[in-house]
Amino acid sequence: MPYPWQKKQWRQVATAIERQRLAHAILLAGAEGTGIDQFAIELAQYLLCEAPVQPDSGCGQCRSCILFRAGNHPDIRMVNPEKPGMQIKVDAIRELIEYFHLSVQYGKHKITIIAPAEGMNRHSADGLLKTLEEPPPLSLLILVSYQPAKLPVTIRSRCQKIIFNRINRQASFDWLNGRLGDSGRTAALLEFAGGAPLKALELSETDVLQQRQDVMKDLRVLRTSKSNPVDTAKKWQEFDMAEVLLWLIFIFSNMAKIRYSSGNESIDKETGHLSAGLDLPQVISCYDLALKNYHLLTGTTNLNRQSLLEEIIIHWQCLKGSSLPASLNKYD
Ligand SMILES: [Zn+2]
Repeated sequence: MPYPWQKKQWRQVATAIERQRLAHAILLAGAEGTGIDQFAIELAQYLLCEAPVQPDSGCGQCRSCILFRAGNHPDIRMVNPEKPGMQIKVDAIRELIEYFHLSVQYGKHKITIIAPAEGMNRHSADGLLKTLEEPPPLSLLILVSYQPAKLPVTIRSRCQKIIFNRINRQASFDWLNGRLGDSGRTAALLEFAGGAPLKALELSETDVLQQRQDVMKDLRVLRTSKSNPVDTAKKWQEFDMAEVLLWLIFIFSNMAKIRYSSGNESIDKETGHLSAGLDLPQVISCYDLALKNYHLLTGTTNLNRQSLLEEIIIHWQCLKGSSLPASLNKYD
């Protein structure tokens, strides 16, 4: 069964299956961490199932489904890089093409999933092209891509495209909140994961939210006392710096939203208190600085990491605004 935010795309595929118009090659394109690889697997099981449950799942009980779930179905093959981030080599594609030309074992389809398709190097993509031009009968090639622009046009143009461009925020929030049972954590994790629910779920197992709490607390202390920016920068350096900078971007962005429209209910009160007394241009100047330094950090090597953080911390500490209300201390 697809995820709740994938219903539109599933309908698109199901309609094509129903009308027997599903292409021999389809390209699932969308953001990583949103479950499009899982969509490909669900689709494969659905197509191979002997008695699929309409509209969207394999029966789970037939011979095909049992073999599929055990990873032993002879008519499905997955091609992934050996390790995340590595290339899919031409040998893997050659082996896939040989497999594709073997006869179908259970009479329905012969399916291959390549994920992520942009992992193919040029030789691999060239190797695949002939199969795309002359697909064997009953074959279905599913390409999962997080960066479809990186795929050669010759590949893209031969695939039926299913685009997962916009995730229904409410559907993904409800799904994640149902697992975490904490709407504040859910909202913060989804924000940090760029709206990708599976990535957010993965992050919930890490200490990334604790980092946010630490950064918030330090920002508060910096405004209420004469704490030393150098010490704070040193402390933040011990975290994942890119994550700290991302949190700063989100925190300042939320402050700007609050300043822009007073009483923004969707943002936690703590952020509101932290930005009390500041005006919109001040908050935006912090946001711009955090964003600039984030790009510097992720785009350059050999830079002074300490100074990137100190710059933001000192800027924050020197903002002229009314002092923070004493009630803030209750968040300690
Ligand atoms: Zn089945």
